[in-house]
Amino acid sequence: MGAYLDLAYVVAAVLFILGLKLLGRADSARRGNMLSALGMLIAVVATLLAGDMSWVWVAVGLGAGALIGTLAARLVQMTAMPEMVALFNGSGGLASMGVAAAEWVQDPQRGLGTAAAIAAAAIVGAVAASGSVVAWGKLSETLPGRPIRIPGQQFVTITLAAVGLAAAAWFAVDPTGTYAPWLLIGFSVIALLLGVLLVMPIGGADMPIVVSLLNAYSGLAASMAGFVLGNSALVVAGSLVGASGFILTNIMCKAMNRSLTNVLFGGFGGAPVSSGAEITGEVKPISAEDAYYILEAASNVVVVPGYGMAVAQAQHVVRELAEMLEKNGCEVRYAIHPVAGRMPGHMNVLLAEANVPYEQLVEPGDVNPTMEMVDVAIVIGANDVVNPAAREDSSSPLYGMPIINVDEARTTFVLKRSMNPGFSGVQNPLFFKPNTRMLFGDGKAMVSQLVSEFKDALGE
Ligand code: NDP
Repeated sequence: MGAYLDLAYVVAAVLFILGLKLLGRADSARRGNMLSALGMLIAVVATLLAGDMSWVWVAVGLGAGALIGTLAARLVQMTAMPEMVALFNGSGGLASMGVAAAEWVQDPQRGLGTAAAIAAAAIVGAVAASGSVVAWGKLSETLPGRPIRIPGQQFVTITLAAVGLAAAAWFAVDPTGTYAPWLLIGFSVIALLLGVLLVMPIGGADMPIVVSLLNAYSGLAASMAGFVLGNSALVVAGSLVGASGFILTNIMCKAMNRSLTNVLFGGFGGAPVSSGAEITGEVKPISAEDAYYILEAASNVVVVPGYGMAVAQAQHVVRELAEMLEKNGCEVRYAIHPVAGRMPGHMNVLLAEANVPYEQLVEPGDVNPTMEMVDVAIVIGANDVVNPAAREDSSSPLYGMPIINVDEARTTFVLKRSMNPGFSGVQNPLFFKPNTRMLFGDGKAMVSQLVSEFKDALGE
């Protein structure tokens, strides 16, 4: 049976890696997800068949997990996806912590290496669990989004970390000692507190990066739990989650031109902030009818979606508008910023759901050099990712973040409900530029009006 189990784990590992590769592109992401899920199914079934376990408890666990997972995935709003991911990460951390503790309870007689792995899985899993709950709270606005610090935060955090590590070292050296249960409980509780203390001082705007980092932690914890159990599939799956979580965190930091240290300790994105330079110019609202006349004459349009498109669920009407423009002989591209929306790939997922052809999606680096030739840039619910202060104003908190240069297009339409700033709280000088026209209203309603104008004109 051992050889079959190893073979099943190798097949599962290959499927995980192939799945991850396919997840790198929007058009193959679904297939990648299915392949990875198949790999996980093979690993789970093989483990169940090989192990000597209580089928009743396995059935209860599988049933409860499948029910919660299916309901959560079906009921969650697209805009609440980051919160759900945060909670799932937290569950992963908690599970690794529970597995490590249960393994020790079953057999405390462990060598130094396994006892150290038990302590590491419990600590990293606990930090991921409590940190993810705080991240969920900040994302869902159940907790305040501003950075929150307690008096002497740094001293308390460092002292707790030192005490926790000392307790873990003692536990690893003497896992059968009289104090071992108390040490295990002690450093697990300290790690739970550390998770809260580490995430509380981070601003709400940075929560998606924190979720990605905690995802990496929960992967590491799972991998350590794999060492404790002697389960190679769990070691591989946990390491892949850990590595991809760190890579994603790095990509997001780069896209904002910020270091991870600045994200973790900078307290960015709490209260509304204003750009240092004074914004001059006039806001020029425009009606959907007038916007139609400009679009009707355009031969080259770039659509820039952002978080507001997700809120308005405007992706389907946006595709309809693009089809109308194309019927009118216009070339349409969608410029996707890597941190548009509230999670990596947010815009790609929404546009794929609306069947927007993958070839029409372009990255900022490819569209920016051509922006001066673009007749109309339509910004739909994006704000920070098109804020020219990131390029022009060295005193702006966004300064240095790569943006989509829609202000360089011949005409720029901005569809949003008000003059409110984006998630970073930084005012946007784009709205005051001479070539910008504001289409105030809900994103879906406004794009629907533009579609109706085209339909009327084309007699559809
Ligand atoms: P922003 O959060 O900057 O702006 C969203 C805009 O959408 C707002 O200006 C809002 O204006 C508008 N809006 C909201 N609801 C609607 C609606 N129903 N109809 C029309 N407009 C609406 O979004 P971006 O996508 O430009 O930027 C994402 C931000 O999130 C960046 O700051 C990024 O750094 C941050 N972030 C993103 C991550 C990611 O992975 N994607 C990760 C970490 C951070 P109004 O209220 O006036 O309508």
